[in-house]
Amino acid sequence: MQHGCFRPEIETASRDELTALQNKRLVNTVKHCYENVPYYKRAMNEKGVSPADVHSVEDLWKLPFLSKEDLRLAYPDGMLAVPKRDVVRIHSTSGTTGKRVIAYYTQADLDMWDDCCARALAAAGATPDDVVQICYGFGLFTGGAGINGGSHKLGSMTIPMSSGNTDRQIQFLIDMQATVIACTPSYAAYLAEVVTERGLQNKLHLKSGIFGAEAWSGEMRRDIEEKLGLEAFNIYGLTEMSGPGVAFECGAHCGSHIQEDNFIAEIIDPDTGEVLPDGSEGELVFTTINKQASPLIRYRTHDICTLNREKCACGRTHVRMGKILGRSDDMLIVKGVNVFPSQIEAVLISRGCSSNYEIIVTRENNSDVLDINVEMTPEMFSDKLSSLSAMEKDIVATLKSVLGIYAKVHLVAPTTLSRSEGKAVRVVDKRGLYEKTGRN
Ligand SMILES: [Zn+2]
Repeated sequence: MQHGCFRPEIETASRDELTALQNKRLVNTVKHCYENVPYYKRAMNEKGVSPADVHSVEDLWKLPFLSKEDLRLAYPDGMLAVPKRDVVRIHSTSGTTGKRVIAYYTQADLDMWDDCCARALAAAGATPDDVVQICYGFGLFTGGAGINGGSHKLGSMTIPMSSGNTDRQIQFLIDMQATVIACTPSYAAYLAEVVTERGLQNKLHLKSGIFGAEAWSGEMRRDIEEKLGLEAFNIYGLTEMSGPGVAFECGAHCGSHIQEDNFIAEIIDPDTGEVLPDGSEGELVFTTINKQASPLIRYRTHDICTLNREKCACGRTHVRMGKILGRSDDMLIVKGVNVFPSQIEAVLISRGCSSNYEIIVTRENNSDVLDINVEMTPEMFSDKLSSLSAMEKDIVATLKSVLGIYAKVHLVAPTTLSRSEGKAVRVVDKRGLYEKTGRN
């Protein structure tokens, strides 16, 4: 189904108009960063580029990349580009893999973010006549606050439920006659299952769902749509860039439109950093061109996807990003938590295990399950069964404190794990969240 634009003049602007706006905003952003954030000044000086060298989007490649590690090292306010008295709110990443990244917002930044989310809601068919139930978490996490602001701006009746408490969620969906729901796809799948089990499907009034903050498969989408009786729409965003609403799916369901008046997207080769032509598979890199407090220049997302600038059936002209095909680093997202295999390996080795291990992620009842098989060393293999069981428990507890989530640990006999090129296959993701990609 096709739905209206919240800002038709900008969402359907011609390519020339968009480029002119991007050029102007990019030049201002680069100058703003250089003058107000010592990090950017240093990074640009090191690369031998100054604001005077950047006149348009064509010059973007001259600028240095920014990584999440750079943002972590700047904790808490090393990247802040405005005086603190101009900041009206902060949000933050979960910080499970290290220091948190703090995102700062001026009032203008919040207005821009609300606008992004209002556009996403409108594209999913929401109007002032709709009731939007938000089951994303509220708090430092950006999911709840972002959709809440967008829904207010659009003029829909907003229910700020936050996450969890499924009985209450279902009660409000029914009693408030919610027509639009926003949450993570895994929570939507869980709700769908509970609603089906209880035979409540015909009591719901849902027409659209806005789902994001995790990867989800086509199969999951069809399941949610069928059981909740709604049309599903993807929403994409990162806390570092403001939150949800950086890109959103329209009724044509052919990728997600990146809001190009606020964000410039590039696709790069993750190994060389070279900018790739449209249509190529590579790492998504963003530059924010309409943010005051926490502007980002060439931020590497590590998300692998493609860009499509062909005309969309919905009439919007903004570039579309395809489905996320994978990650350019080896990060896994398990139960919403970022997990790096290197963290697991460090724990295993510190407990005297071999470096041959296997991380298996599956999904049972819409919840992620993390299993770790690790080969014992020959010395461990000769130990008593009771001491091995104590060791397994110790590894589980250590992993819990390092990762923040529970993992099942299985000690297996030496050389029993399957190998490729002599090494155990490290990660097996059986959730089917990513479609096949040329990259590993
Ligand atoms: Zn479209």
